[in-house]
Amino acid sequence: MATIDERLVSKVVSEVLARLQAQNQAGANAPAASEARNPTAFGVYERMEDAAEAAHASFLKLRELGVNARKNAIQVIRKLCVQNAKEWGELEFAETKIGRLDHKIEKLKICGDLVPGVEMLNRTAYSGDFGLTLIDFAPWGVIGAITPSTHSVPTLTGNAINMIAAGNAVVYNTHPAAAKCAAVAIRAYNQAIFQATGISDLLTTVVKPTLDTFDAMCKHPKVKLLCVTGGPAVVAAAMKTGKRAICAGPGNPPVVVDETADLAKSAKCIIQGAAYDNNLLCIGEKEVFVVESVADQLIAELKQAGAVQLDSAQVEALADKAFVFPQGKGAGCPHPVVNRDLVGRDASVLAKAIGLDVPPATALLFGETKADHIFVDEEQMMPFIPIVRVPNVDVAIEEAIKAEHGYKHTAIMHSQNISNLTKMAQAVDTTLFIKNGPSMTGLGLGGEGFLSFSIATPTGEGVTTPMTFTRSRRCVMVESLNLY
Ligand code: NAD
Repeated sequence: MATIDERLVSKVVSEVLARLQAQNQAGANAPAASEARNPTAFGVYERMEDAAEAAHASFLKLRELGVNARKNAIQVIRKLCVQNAKEWGELEFAETKIGRLDHKIEKLKICGDLVPGVEMLNRTAYSGDFGLTLIDFAPWGVIGAITPSTHSVPTLTGNAINMIAAGNAVVYNTHPAAAKCAAVAIRAYNQAIFQATGISDLLTTVVKPTLDTFDAMCKHPKVKLLCVTGGPAVVAAAMKTGKRAICAGPGNPPVVVDETADLAKSAKCIIQGAAYDNNLLCIGEKEVFVVESVADQLIAELKQAGAVQLDSAQVEALADKAFVFPQGKGAGCPHPVVNRDLVGRDASVLAKAIGLDVPPATALLFGETKADHIFVDEEQMMPFIPIVRVPNVDVAIEEAIKAEHGYKHTAIMHSQNISNLTKMAQAVDTTLFIKNGPSMTGLGLGGEGFLSFSIATPTGEGVTTPMTFTRSRRCVMVESLNLY
């Protein structure tokens, strides 16, 4: 029997689909594509071409209405994502069946306060003997955004605030497994933005995103910039399009614990970060390198804080379930693929997969492995973390760098030794480096700073902001308008 959440997803999506069908029938004889588009679709279209055109028309209106309209639209998004956090968190959880409901709700609520707006646009002026030069930050127009299954509505919400603050409209190709909740949020945002500004399609998408709609979006002449949030395949695909792509790619964040760390606190932080939304976050702790002299104590603290230890046979049994080798182990392409049935599932579900019963409230499983173990190497996105003993902090840093694979994403260290912290910060060269806290502090959740769920790693923009989605323009007045 369908749960209430599933029925709600189906009901809202059926409404959208019914309206689209009616629109198609009504538009059968329509002469022009622009007229065939339903002006009350509020962002959800069947064809990518229509979604991109509608976003472009709304971009032009936003440009006409100015910065105040951007502020009003953002205000509406902030209000709605907090107001609807529970309902939309439940929708996303019901649709994707991954992660933890409480964290899905929290990820939406924090978008309201922590994602920056127009105040981030830093204009500059130079005044001197030759006159006045103004450097301003202009929108691109329509941005094509690709969002992940791991946090569909939070990512699209953060992107929407950042991109509208910079004066853009957005067309999304969302993850097919999280497209319904995305469509519901996009429609609600547009309806409320329309009430506040008269613009109906600042955020658009398609009912059924596919690789073909991705292609159509990337090729659309009115889509001027891409922003990709996802794994290696989509980053590679976006970079091949010939358009500028801001890529928020994969991570495999290592944790180093040295002999000076506060071990009780380190254990709590590792659990908090690695168990957050069942380790779906790209910034989430994925493997631990601990200095041998304190390894036993760290393990004791992890158990004390509620994590459940697997023995080596159980770790191997879980690895066998957690990864699949499409072409067979050791043959052809030996690269493993993570088993989607276990990604983002509860620790108790992982345990059950290997015939083990743990309390349902268990946040995290852990087990000791060697540094070259598959659980260390692969971005598993599951609430299991491998613990690797190393002789000293230098080896820990070296192994952490290997495990991070040069993604330049996130690394975490627990230490009270300033020299060790500095050494790792410099050597690991990641976009986020978190010291003595859980990973999410790097996005402003319990740490200073602002939030975005798109952390541009291979392309180097970092935690994205409104400035990320602007074009720098210079306007020069010669021999006038200077004030001296
Ligand atoms: P995914 O790569 O499977 O999907 C992400 C998006 O890319 C989806 O919209 C999907 O439909 C699309 N996609 C996938 N392959 C594609 C292809 N070949 N061509 C066109 N589109 C394609 O990832 P996911 O499981 O949804 O999310 C998890 C991944 O995303 C992890 O690797 C995680 O580290 C990464 N991620 C990174 C950030 C960041 O800010 N850097 C944030 C969230 C997730």
